[in-house]
Amino acid sequence: MRYAIISDIHSNFEALTAVLDHIQTQMVDSVICLGDVVGYGPNPNECVELIKLNCSLTLMGNHDFACLDQSELDYFNDYARQALLWTIENLTPSSIQFISKLPLSEKLDDIFMVHASPDHPSAWNYIMSMDDAMINFNFFETNICVYGHTHLSIIFTEEENGGYSVSREAHIKIDKKNKYLINVGSVGQPRDYNSKAAYGIIDTVDQHFQLHRVAYDYRLTQEKMRQYRLSDFLIHRLENGR
Ligand code: ZN
Repeated sequence: MRYAIISDIHSNFEALTAVLDHIQTQMVDSVICLGDVVGYGPNPNECVELIKLNCSLTLMGNHDFACLDQSELDYFNDYARQALLWTIENLTPSSIQFISKLPLSEKLDDIFMVHASPDHPSAWNYIMSMDDAMINFNFFETNICVYGHTHLSIIFTEEENGGYSVSREAHIKIDKKNKYLINVGSVGQPRDYNSKAAYGIIDTVDQHFQLHRVAYDYRLTQEKMRQYRLSDFLIHRLENGR
């Protein structure tokens, strides 16, 4: 099977459209979304509709969850909270209904899927360092765990001999004897100084992972954000990629 894995769309319709177009050329069997469909950007409902149409499985992200339970808003910084309040005001009942049914994690083939971290999916922990990864390798049994949340693509490996390694390569060969924690980056708000949308493909037959970067017209997204008076910080973030 070839799975396209997308994450952290954040209401960015232009980035999502560009990524879905790119996926069309990659002959994948299904598209999986690891959550945070909404938050930050100007097109929450349009993104929910595209995700509904294109993804065979979508998980719950922390921004999605905060739209259902506003007590969660305390955990966000001012920019994120302000954008979430705007999002909550603008979500349609059908978008809310879709979001309310999203699961926190799922297992498919030999892949565990979660938005933030396998150790405690609803705690929204960040896997940033090797120390974080080493804890989390104990919380999934599969060959691979894919996740998002940090908006930074990275691959942590637990080797058969007990060693650990980290890689920022766009392509790796999957060894069934190892375990992998793979972050597929963010479609709608990359934070690695690269404005291009990120997503990954896992091929369980050829046994490899490939990260793709896709350019999109972020100026159009920025224009809409200005119209809706979303924060300048979030607007500039799209072109700076950080
Ligand atoms: Zn996110």
